Amino acid sequence: MTGPVKITSKAEVEEFLSKYDNFLFDCDGVIWQGDVLLPHVKETLSLLREKGKKLIFVTNNSTKSRKAYTKKFSKLGLDEVTPEEIFGSAYSAAVYLKKVVKFPADKKVLVLGESGIEEELASEGIQFVGGTDPSLRRDIGPEDYDAIVPDPSIGCVLSGLDLHINYLKLSIALINLQVPETLFLATNIDSTYPTHGKLFPGAGTMCAPLVLASKRQPISLGKPSKAMMDCVKAKFEFDPVRTCMVGDRLDTDIRFGQEGGLGTLFVLTGVNKESDILDENADVVPQQYMTKLGDIFELLH
Ligand code: PLP
Ligand code: CA
Repeated sequence: MTGPVKITSKAEVEEFLSKYDNFLFDCDGVIWQGDVLLPHVKETLSLLREKGKKLIFVTNNSTKSRKAYTKKFSKLGLDEVTPEEIFGSAYSAAVYLKKVVKFPADKKVLVLGESGIEEELASEGIQFVGGTDPSLRRDIGPEDYDAIVPDPSIGCVLSGLDLHINYLKLSIALINLQVPETLFLATNIDSTYPTHGKLFPGAGTMCAPLVLASKRQPISLGKPSKAMMDCVKAKFEFDPVRTCMVGDRLDTDIRFGQEGGLGTLFVLTGVNKESDILDENADVVPQQYMTKLGDIFELLH
């Protein structure tokens, strides 16, 4: 097996760009780190647009809707990015419910998560409960145990990163998951959420107690799931062979691209390091890699 190709020269960038018409970008760790835009990303994205490439931004962050995420791009000076170019895991879950599951109009989704999920469900006309409802931000009391019963109007439990997760919300979700017909979805199941140079609990840790207690596994709508790739392909209709997934994390981004039949470009500005892909026991190896996305601009100038 040939190892990953490191792109370090103008000729290698030109060859790389000639292979693809479409680019799927992970956001955190590729475009920015937290609230800091990475060097020459703006110039690289402009250059790709000038060359007629199609750009799609695919993020596992479910806390923001596409509209809210556009504001983040704009704040960092990336004004050209439109909501239509963004595909977040909250939107992915909403599209999956609407188009794949054909979720009944009279049923509701019980949300563990933030406003990003609520906004995307609303954008697809799907009813929901839970989420940011302030009445759920409290301790559980003795009166709650009898009151928490399966709600026949709930057809799905959807779990994402919930910054106010608590025992009450988990209890309501678990009681509803004990009904076998209730769908169990997760926006993403990332084990960790890397920020400020540390690893915080990822969205997968929200549904982990429910997985343990219900003995059920959610369908994930985030990278690297096939369900997300199917939703992305259904929306953008690209030729996978002419499309490259760009990411900083091997177990989500690069696996996502690889399993979707896309080309893969790994960058060293995020979670995984060069040593992770050069390790002979690495189970996910990108086709190509470079120090940072901005190298595309720098090496061409
Ligand atoms: N989940 C949450 C809640 C996040 O805030 C982030 C990054 O900001 C991620 C997941 C990972 O996002 P990405 O797929 O863009 O790296
Ligand atoms: Ca990332």
